[in-house]
Amino acid sequence: MQFYALDENEFILASSAKRHKDYRCPECLNILRLRGGPHRHLHFYHLQASPSCKQHQKSLTHLQAQLAVQALLPEGEGVLEKPFLQIGRIADVAWEKQGIVFEIQCSPISAAEALERSEDYRSLGLTAVWLLHTRRFNKRLLSAAEAKLRQSSCYFTTINEKGQGIFYDQYEVIRGARRIHRGPPLKISLATPLFDAHGSLYFPGDLKDREYESPPQPPPTKRSFLKTLKRGYKMIFYSLLESLSK
Ligand SMILES: [Zn+2]
Repeated sequence: MQFYALDENEFILASSAKRHKDYRCPECLNILRLRGGPHRHLHFYHLQASPSCKQHQKSLTHLQAQLAVQALLPEGEGVLEKPFLQIGRIADVAWEKQGIVFEIQCSPISAAEALERSEDYRSLGLTAVWLLHTRRFNKRLLSAAEAKLRQSSCYFTTINEKGQGIFYDQYEVIRGARRIHRGPPLKISLATPLFDAHGSLYFPGDLKDREYESPPQPPPTKRSFLKTLKRGYKMIFYSLLESLSK
């Protein structure tokens, strides 16, 4: 399901479309119809299954996460389902002013497909920021794609069908395909991207940001080393005394 369709050759937003009329999917070109109502956002669905189409695989949760990202960005800057014809891809949310596309992932994906997608956007000068949904990701066992993606701009989201939830980073220890330690969720602010000296993207609140924020620790001086040594000797001395007095 998705928010945009083709009407003849023009893009049309679900909120401007008519019911019972045939539209086409911008990705697979199969027939789409409108659905939704007072309690659900209007959206298009594929009249017949189109297993290889990414738009067809999208769930209501996915649409809500798209809307949640868009709502966080400055008004009018986040574009939903933006097609990039040069690479044949449709970004979930494109923020071209900042050179960012948000890719929301609620379903399994191969490492090859994930990396190819990021690489395609990079060829256009865009950084793909992955938002992995916790229904499928951030479990004890990691897929190859998750392990790879977590090494770059990749976070988690808990946004549900009602549009409630957060976007977060976390401290974690990964060994092979296992997540052996997971810290608490660290809420991030997607609306204010930051760039380090190498041009790498990060966000306020994420692990990288916290790393930069913590003040640099001074190297241990000779004096403090001697102090530690002295304290050590003192402790040995007192424990000797204690054992002698027993
Ligand atoms: Zn399609």
